[in-house]
Amino acid sequence: MEKAPLVALRGVVKRYGHVAAVKDLSLDIPEGSFTAIFGPNGAGKSTLLKILSNQTRPTSGEILYSGVPAAKLEDSFRSKFGVISHQPFVYDNLSAKENLEFYASLYGVKNAGARACELLKKVDLYTRRDDPVRTFSRGMLQRVSIARALLHDPAIIFLDEPYTGLDSVASASLTNILREQLEGRKTILMVTHDLKTGLELASRVVIMKKGRIIYFRERGEVDASAFESVYLEQAGGPEAAG
Ligand code: ADP
Repeated sequence: MEKAPLVALRGVVKRYGHVAAVKDLSLDIPEGSFTAIFGPNGAGKSTLLKILSNQTRPTSGEILYSGVPAAKLEDSFRSKFGVISHQPFVYDNLSAKENLEFYASLYGVKNAGARACELLKKVDLYTRRDDPVRTFSRGMLQRVSIARALLHDPAIIFLDEPYTGLDSVASASLTNILREQLEGRKTILMVTHDLKTGLELASRVVIMKKGRIIYFRERGEVDASAFESVYLEQAGGPEAAG
């Protein structure tokens, strides 16, 4: 029997009142893949990531993780998720290190202090480790958020516009971190407006519009030099880039 995909969506719909944010979406996500999800504002990208990472339930349809329906999922499987979203999920008055140690203890990570320091070095915040995060810039908070999401060495990483607020050095560092994660056979889904970086990392390319997947290709089938015009055509005019 063929192995079930790591994550499978079957006819997933998500409504907020009269707004259908995600409409009848089906998608298989194989282990070790990197799916880049592009699309204009309001396309349903963030909602899709929230559904996949179990932060919100679909109105109808099914999600299977290694063939197991989401409703029957053990907590141990949920702890395989790492999420980087628009909210940094940090406590303002705690230092960067204290924040990471707190999350490490929640996730049951051993040697929390050492693991926190290891990740703070990775995101280049080690020298600021004892400063309260309320004194951090947006980009620094984003780096804490990246470190927090990786603390427990998650098997599936969901990233919603993770490059927002990062300067070019921090952006390059995040790209390296993501490459490292892929080498470790992690499965990654990333929503981004950065077509170039998305294509550089992706093994599969998705464009969403109005709650649907309107474009899906394996990366090898995508001509990077022509992708921007393909994107603008598919997603609907220049305003789609935002
Ligand atoms: P994207 O990430 O592609 O910009 P979203 O998933 O954030 O799109 O939003 C898709 C649609 O769902 C939008 O019309 C948005 O206004 C709506 N939506 C998203 N989250 C909520 C919510 N919590 N309550 C009501 N409407 C929402």
